[in-house]
Amino acid sequence: MPHETLDTVVSEIAEEMRARPDRGKVASYIPELGRVDPNQFAITVVTQDGHVASGGQCDIPFSIQSVSKVFTLTLALGLAGNRLWNRVGREPSGSPFNSIVQLEHERGIPRNPFINAGAIVVTDHVLAGHQPREAIGEILRFMQFLADDESIYIDHDVAASEEAHGFNNRALANFMKGFGALDNPVEYTLGVYFHHCAIAMTCRQLATAGRFLANNGIRPETGYSVVTPERARRINAIMLTCGHYDGSGEFAYRVGLPGKSGVGGAILAIVPGRASICVWSPGLDTTGNSHLGRIALEMLTTRLGWTVFGPG
Ligand code: GLU
Repeated sequence: MPHETLDTVVSEIAEEMRARPDRGKVASYIPELGRVDPNQFAITVVTQDGHVASGGQCDIPFSIQSVSKVFTLTLALGLAGNRLWNRVGREPSGSPFNSIVQLEHERGIPRNPFINAGAIVVTDHVLAGHQPREAIGEILRFMQFLADDESIYIDHDVAASEEAHGFNNRALANFMKGFGALDNPVEYTLGVYFHHCAIAMTCRQLATAGRFLANNGIRPETGYSVVTPERARRINAIMLTCGHYDGSGEFAYRVGLPGKSGVGGAILAIVPGRASICVWSPGLDTTGNSHLGRIALEMLTTRLGWTVFGPG
């Protein structure tokens, strides 16, 4: 597809999103997210050949929150390989992001790596053998490396607020610890989890960081292999089936791409072989996923025919 067509579609969508009155509700479980202006919107598409199409406020940093779970999963799979799947499942949960209900039946083994319980187990694996500070540094450096941008930082106010208000996550972690499902002290694992959720990035940086997933595991800028092609496909599969919590079916139906959302309002979506996309709008729908972000992605994939379910 000509770059001009993509540029036009992306600008039109940004313009349409700017004008919409329905914006969803910003996350309010911590004051730092509750204060974010819901009238913001950004979209960046980075194609395989490196073309960048952007609209809206693409250079404003936001809290990436659960989008970080894609990258901690990538790191943990690099450390443990398929042994990681003894500690966390790969099934959609159909439950909200912070649900505890399935943990009792499944003896502390979370359904998938993208609900909070699963992401906490994945973080516990990344932490193994390290001090929390080292693990946090490793995750941050991984993001900087993938986005090719050392200015990416952790928002320490958000991290402190997650620590202060993280009652549900503490409950999940303690419950799993009771089943022997966490190796490290609960506060260490949660400290690393809260910090990786608090990484701040722009739409442009996050779309760049996702490029290896659209390109068989290889960073196209350098030819450097981040993961094998097989692993990239499988991470994409988990994004498609589990990336939007109990809204994953609806996202697959409407957008048709692997995607991972965060309560900061970002969605990273992957068009295998074509592009990595980040959309950001802080207002959320009832399943905790970016309201306008999902609508914008639906428009994009419908107009361009970009979906994993049929020829474009
Ligand atoms: N930091 C959030 C939490 O653990 C992440 C949730 C999300 O982005 O979906 O509650």
